[in-house]
Amino acid sequence: MPQIVDLSIDSVDRSEVLRYMGYAGQEYDPSLDQRIDQAIARAIEVSRPRASIDFFDVETREVRDDGTPVLRLRGTSIELAGHSMEEHMADAVAVGVLAVTLGMGDERELHRLGLTDHVGQILLDSASTTLVERAADAAESLIVAEATRRGLYTNFRFSPGYGDLPLSIQPTILSALDATRRLGITLSPTLLMTPTKSVTAVVGMCTRPQASTRRSCKGCPCFDFCTIRPTGRTCHG
Ligand code: SF4
Repeated sequence: MPQIVDLSIDSVDRSEVLRYMGYAGQEYDPSLDQRIDQAIARAIEVSRPRASIDFFDVETREVRDDGTPVLRLRGTSIELAGHSMEEHMADAVAVGVLAVTLGMGDERELHRLGLTDHVGQILLDSASTTLVERAADAAESLIVAEATRRGLYTNFRFSPGYGDLPLSIQPTILSALDATRRLGITLSPTLLMTPTKSVTAVVGMCTRPQASTRRSCKGCPCFDFCTIRPTGRTCHG
């Protein structure tokens, strides 16, 4: 049964917003900082970040007739196909699956600004992308905590469309997480999500530390949401 979680996020990093806007160290008018701060505040105001999370054991690893490796998850129709997943999930005994969304409030505001204030829409779009990635960090922290509880190690979250993991698994992920009914995420015929500020991802839960397993809490994207650290332990031993 997927766990539905309301995520509390009250800030995002302005430099991340700039990065999504395409800035890479160029000079810019300092007044832009104020507009970005306003866009961040607006994104937080109109969004309702929520997640659906569940955990599935790895059931089988097979190779299809066309040579594509595929990993099946017990109790779902999710098939993680391709060489990216073969490598990423090599030591996984279970997989944490997440979907997060900012909800339709943010979507409506993006649409409204698209009709009335093009620059404002670009700013809110970048702020919202940063916010939904923060929401994914928060959801991922719950997967890391569950892995630690089971004595397992996590790797980084991997979304459909990265590497050779096809977008065509989106329907099975949303179905396994009941994300259309519980979070309101729908798919277009081309498999794009609405609200557009939504993210799905899988996280490997592995028997031994992975190259991407965190070695230190410093710089960890889950730091602000971590439920392990306050107990005096860490996910990295
Ligand atoms: S803050 Fe530390 S313990 Fe928590 S998830 Fe990050 S690395 Fe692990």
